[in-house]
Amino acid sequence: MGAAAHLLAFLVLASAGSAVAQEKHLIDPTPPGSLEPEPLPLLQNPDAPSTPAKELFARKSIPFPGPPRSIGGYFDGCLAGAMPLAITGPNWQVMRLSRHRNWGNPQLVRFVERFAENARKVGWNGLLVGDMSQPRGGPMLSEHRSHQIGLDVDIWFTPMPDHVQSREEREFGSANDVVAPDQLDVDPEVWTQTHAELIRTAAQDPVVTRILVNAAIKKALCREAGADRAWLSKVRPWYGHAEHFHVQIACPEGNAECKPQPPPRPSDGYGHELDFWFKESTLHPPPTKPKPALTLAGMPPGCRQIVKAP
Ligand SMILES: [Zn+2]
Repeated sequence: MGAAAHLLAFLVLASAGSAVAQEKHLIDPTPPGSLEPEPLPLLQNPDAPSTPAKELFARKSIPFPGPPRSIGGYFDGCLAGAMPLAITGPNWQVMRLSRHRNWGNPQLVRFVERFAENARKVGWNGLLVGDMSQPRGGPMLSEHRSHQIGLDVDIWFTPMPDHVQSREEREFGSANDVVAPDQLDVDPEVWTQTHAELIRTAAQDPVVTRILVNAAIKKALCREAGADRAWLSKVRPWYGHAEHFHVQIACPEGNAECKPQPPPRPSDGYGHELDFWFKESTLHPPPTKPKPALTLAGMPPGCRQIVKAP
């Protein structure tokens, strides 16, 4: 082989290698968006009991009016009186506008605004905000099982740039993956102390109940945290979550129909509690059968009215 052929062979191998490495822990990368998203086709049979609820909720582009209500659970619920997070704020910018998922319970919007300001105080240059909820919450056509009641938000592990991003940048920009290719630890080339400070800042906000990160990140946080460790109990290891972290806030006061999740165990979750996540069968899980799609029958009765209203 000539030098050029050698180089080519090397490049092919190297890129194949990195594609495999990426698949391993990027179970939930944020796919690129679109500048001209296709409108969803009309449903043939919207009233059939078998119609997946995600098909109904995904077709609602405005919120259900009235006072804010998070109804049901994080995995099977909906949202009334949602408000949008401004797409550009003093300390944040919303990504993937074509997904139209920057809606939440007003308490979530307030949280993002507050967290963005607090994050700047620890040296994070503003937040890039991924998915929150759809205008009426509910299940989504892609990516999430939670994010249904306007109390979840994904925050990228990439700081906001110093300029207001264009539509193109928001749709096609990609987030930093902070986990090493072998998934056993964070990538020291990417991970910084400021990433840890960012997560701690979110965890210490009183409304936050749970934060999901890749297990490698959890391991690094536990290792790097000093004596003040109480906040670590809110940070839970999960699949994926290598390029963004997921923040869940509590059911707002007065939202009687909101179903809270049991609080995480009070321990910092270090040591043997993490073993499961680094087992071969967890790092490279066998394919699983998809669960049957949620229908309105599997959701709180109030969600039917919310999704059926014009
Ligand atoms: Zn999430």
